[in-house]
Amino acid sequence: MYVVFLGAPGAGKGTQAAEVAKELQLAHIATGDMFRDAQKKGTALGMKAKEYMEKGQLVPDEITVAMLLERIGQADCAQGVILDGFPRTLAQAEALDKALAQQKKAIDYVIYIKVADTELMKRLGGRWICRKCQTPYHEVASPPKVKGVCDKCSGELYQRADDVPETIKARLGVFHAQTAPLIDYYTKTGKLTEVNGEGGMTDIRKRILDAIKKGKPGRNR
Ligand code: ADP
Ligand code: ZN
Repeated sequence: MYVVFLGAPGAGKGTQAAEVAKELQLAHIATGDMFRDAQKKGTALGMKAKEYMEKGQLVPDEITVAMLLERIGQADCAQGVILDGFPRTLAQAEALDKALAQQKKAIDYVIYIKVADTELMKRLGGRWICRKCQTPYHEVASPPKVKGVCDKCSGELYQRADDVPETIKARLGVFHAQTAPLIDYYTKTGKLTEVNGEGGMTDIRKRILDAIKKGKPGRNR
């Protein structure tokens, strides 16, 4: 099963994708995490991605698509995946459809997690992330039990370099200009469900799982 999570930065894609992937026993692939990992390792890919990420811009499609297709070909993805943060442009969506079609596969569900821009600005401003397991926290909305320490793995929490006001604005602009057209693209295929991304984490997760379980006739699963 292939599920795409679509949503603006700060919509909660990462948190929800991790939980839902565990529940449905699918691999969780987050292109943002892959780029940050490559940066930490200091690879050529990481250095290239850094130039764009620092400015809140998208990493070029060519680089991103190649990295993603390589990743979904790995053994742990055989049962299906949740894609978190990919595709983010029409060209990426088309490249993914084409690659899956070549293997007689297709995307089954697209979950669009919708959150208002004012709420997104608030969330991204106070975001802290675990260095070890990537769990996100929020100063106000979902603080860790101990300041600066991850509840799940005791890892150190840090603030992403691109979670500063100017870059947050740029990322939201990029979302509206380049990623929002995908809502239309996937609506036309009948695969998209819009989920309200505001409210309690458990409620939102339930909305997502309901959307996946319900499905729609005529889809391959
Ligand atoms: P967020 O959704 O909060 O912006 P991500 O971790 O998904 O966080 O992405 C961080 C950055 O990584 C993006 O701003 C972009 O520069 C880069 N990135 C991640 N996924 C993609 C993608 N599919 N295409 C291009 N760039 C990407
Ligand atoms: Zn952790």
